[in-house]
Amino acid sequence: MVEIQTASATPRIVALASEIAERVVAPLAPRTDAEARWPEEAMRALGEAGLLGLHVPRRLGGFGEGLAALAQVTEVLGRSCSSAAMCFGMHSVAAAVIAAKATPYQEERYLRPIAAGRHVTSLALSEPGTGAHFFLPRATFRREGEAYALDGAKSFVTSGAHADSYVVSAVAPGAELDPGTFTCLLVDKGAPGLEWAKPWTGVGMRGNSSRAATLKDVHVPTGNLLGHEGDQIWFVFEVVAPYFLVAMAGTYLGVAQAALDLAVEHLRNHRYEHTSERLAENAALTERVAEMWTVVERCRCLLRHAAALGDAGSPDASKALFAAKVDVADAAVSVTNTAMTLLGGRGYQENGKLARLMRDAQAAHVMSPTTHLLKRWLGRSVLGLPLL
Ligand SMILES: Cc1cc2nc3c(=O)[nH]c(=O)nc-3n(C[C@H](O)[C@H](O)[C@H](O)COP(=O)(O)OP(=O)(O)OC[C@H]3O[C@@H](n4cnc5c(N)ncnc54)[C@H](O)[C@@H]3O)c2cc1C
Repeated sequence: MVEIQTASATPRIVALASEIAERVVAPLAPRTDAEARWPEEAMRALGEAGLLGLHVPRRLGGFGEGLAALAQVTEVLGRSCSSAAMCFGMHSVAAAVIAAKATPYQEERYLRPIAAGRHVTSLALSEPGTGAHFFLPRATFRREGEAYALDGAKSFVTSGAHADSYVVSAVAPGAELDPGTFTCLLVDKGAPGLEWAKPWTGVGMRGNSSRAATLKDVHVPTGNLLGHEGDQIWFVFEVVAPYFLVAMAGTYLGVAQAALDLAVEHLRNHRYEHTSERLAENAALTERVAEMWTVVERCRCLLRHAAALGDAGSPDASKALFAAKVDVADAAVSVTNTAMTLLGGRGYQENGKLARLMRDAQAAHVMSPTTHLLKRWLGRSVLGLPLL
């Protein structure tokens, strides 16, 4: 894509992420996948470059960037390793949630260490009981003196058991049926009563460590409450959803681009002995490449447009963000499938890079907000109906 030059720091930050993606993240991606290994080195390198502080305000040492930067950084990471991009993405969403209404204590305790690359956080919203309806927690919190006590179960927590803290959603007991009572609290790694299920063994996204967790009478200081008790559905639609959508869309756009890269490389380099013709000269295959490029570039344009609307606080941002994630999920699945066809038997033969991209791409539709939910929200938005 031709870059439009702006005075923003975003291009410099994206260049920094690209350098780390190529030097550190990509070489480790096969092992991350094969061994279902949490991408510790990638997260450390991103931290040392200050990128874990992408959304931390500059006055606290971060980059103070928004959705536009997140879209591009997750794309370059997703192109190298979707697991690393996902861990970075979930960290970034959680960091944005913390930063949205951080108290002075939370700034010093969480945001400064995040900006300094010393603290990884993550998002623990999904639950086995409410599944794709990630905005309807059943975990509960209750006040006990100077602490909150949390009880409940979480599912698919990315970077589970590896991150230093988790943004956990919960409701006051008895308020489960009112979506407006969603509340977020910060739970530190190792908090007594926080127990992790066995390591994640997904079909794809295998370095993610997306584990289930149980919270049994987990006590956190009252200072770990994000925003105000019981009114934080605001977080869901103003912070969680936009950042979640952009992080996921960026990641899977990177997956689609990586599959296109592999197809181009194969068609350019593979030559038949009997005709001396490169596959790239074949008109039918050239058309497939044109179709793939168009899909990827169209998604990129929609995602960047949506992110720019989000950063500008436009009332049209949510519709564009919903559409962007749906479109990218379709693109990731279709482009990886087409690439598999174009690489012929070589692509299918081994559980190599393209197979990894295909497996990883399958998660795009089920990552929250899921494609089904987004289409419902998008349709309701266009029709002028309330989302929920
Ligand atoms: C690799 C990975 C990493 C993840 N990381 C995190 C994380 O860090 N933090 C976190 O909080 N969550 C995380 N999740 C959870 C994820 O975001 C989704 O919430 C979860 O995968 C969806 O829940 P479920 O699997 O229980 O689906 P279910 O709720 O069982 O839904 C199954 C399918 O039914 C569809 N469906 C549900 N209701 C409707 C309806 N009314 N109409 C039409 N279709 C419907 C859904 O869209 C979905 O496709 C992760 C998931 C994965 C796979």
